[in-house]
Amino acid sequence: MDKNIQFQNYGARGNWVANEWVPAKEGKTISIISPYFDKEIATVPDSSAADLDAIVDRAQVAFPGWAATNIRDRAQIMFRFKTIMENDIENLAELIALDNGKTVADAKGSIQRGIDVIEYATTIPEVLKEESSQVSAGITCTMTHEPLGVVAGITPFNFPVMVPLWMIPLAITAGNCFILKPSEQTPLAGLQIAEYLKEAGLPTGVFSVVNGSREAVEGICDHIDIRAVAFVGSSKVAKIVYTRSTAVGKRALCLGGAKNHIIIVPDADENSTAKGLLASSMGSAGQRCMAASVMVGVEEVDAIIDSIVESSAQLKLGEDMGAVISKAARERIIRMIDEAKEQGARIVLDGRNPQSPEGYDGGYWLGPTIIDHASPEMACAQVEIFGPVLTIVRADSLKEAMKIENSSPYGNAASIFTTSGAVSRYVSENASAGMVGINVGVPVPRDPFSFGGWNQSKFGHGDITGSSGLSFWTNLRKVTTRWPAE
Ligand code: NAD
Repeated sequence: MDKNIQFQNYGARGNWVANEWVPAKEGKTISIISPYFDKEIATVPDSSAADLDAIVDRAQVAFPGWAATNIRDRAQIMFRFKTIMENDIENLAELIALDNGKTVADAKGSIQRGIDVIEYATTIPEVLKEESSQVSAGITCTMTHEPLGVVAGITPFNFPVMVPLWMIPLAITAGNCFILKPSEQTPLAGLQIAEYLKEAGLPTGVFSVVNGSREAVEGICDHIDIRAVAFVGSSKVAKIVYTRSTAVGKRALCLGGAKNHIIIVPDADENSTAKGLLASSMGSAGQRCMAASVMVGVEEVDAIIDSIVESSAQLKLGEDMGAVISKAARERIIRMIDEAKEQGARIVLDGRNPQSPEGYDGGYWLGPTIIDHASPEMACAQVEIFGPVLTIVRADSLKEAMKIENSSPYGNAASIFTTSGAVSRYVSENASAGMVGINVGVPVPRDPFSFGGWNQSKFGHGDITGSSGLSFWTNLRKVTTRWPAE
């Protein structure tokens, strides 16, 4: 094992309201199961609209004071928050692993990417400084970024700390009061963020957590005092949340699912291409919206494919790769592999019946799987599998490969592995995806660049991190001034 995951039951956890844990009004709960053990590790409230109302009320009370707090003082809390998280990274990574099924090393890497956003938030006093210019003789126009009020974020199971941190540092440093609705499958590490923020000195009511599932999400969409919502999850729910939230006049940015293509051409460097593809397709057990889910091999790339199959076969469960999120997810992924085989694709690496790591027999294990010679129309090449499965489609030309990539309804990421500048340029200019990698398998833009896809991978305008994220959480105020001459 990369590190021994210890079973622990955290008992009944609550919602975070006014800097305290409180149970839900009706006492309904959700059982949290560890993918390593198939056993309950905690329960959280299945909150109702009434629970949400109470949280929004407290946040509204906190908002005027927080918005009036000097932006430098707000940023100071982010400096402390960052240090607290860095000091507790080992414990937090172990909690993510227990809750989500990741390896501790993978969990740690994801926390670090979240901390990057906190770091960017510490620069907000500089980034959001007032802009002022004399626009006409004796007339000055000044522009400031103003917070929106009470805002919310709804997050998926796969990155329980990183994805909330795409939102929280920017939204609260910009002066908003933020309500987090973490995934009901992996809420525990997100709850820890509340404790860190309290320790960092964040005033009561500025950050809250409402646990729950569909009812809590619908409550957030419908609540007219929540001014903006950011969502990250599947495209199906992203579209529902976007439509329902904007119907009541709420600002919404909803990131959805993905089916990312990596195009490999014969001139690609064999070693680094195989490494990049392996990390992208099997990292986080393929449960990543940036995962390389479809490799499009152009012409003769068999040597690279052999190398990917060989290195994937060597991955050790529990050490290099964690478990998948649930029994249901495991069964769904196996069904998709079965179906690909029935349709005539070749399973060149089969992870359907792996050996469980010692001591973790009950876990939801799936080994790396590679499906070759799939046709672009097959479900394995079209539908988001969200597991450690790489589908390989063959193309006769780069043009045909681009056609396959362009025909996907998603548009999160696309990558090309090549040593040719002309090829990389052609792909980066023609891919129908918001994030493009050139010899990079997981092309996540780091702050201040922003994260976000296109097409069915995102509903709403703008991106979620970086400068675009800051625009999302603020309104622009323009003040035009003329003082009469004496
Ligand atoms: P999900 O859509 O099932 O859940 C996301 C959130 O929506 C959760 O908080 C959940 O409580 C809520 N939810 C679920 N069903 C709902 C319903 N019917 N009505 C209202 N709310 C509902 O997603 P998931 O399975 O937790 O996460 C995996 C998905 O997230 C994948 O599709 C993945 O690609 C996507 N994802 C996208 C990005 C991105 O940046 N685009 C990042 C991470 C994950």
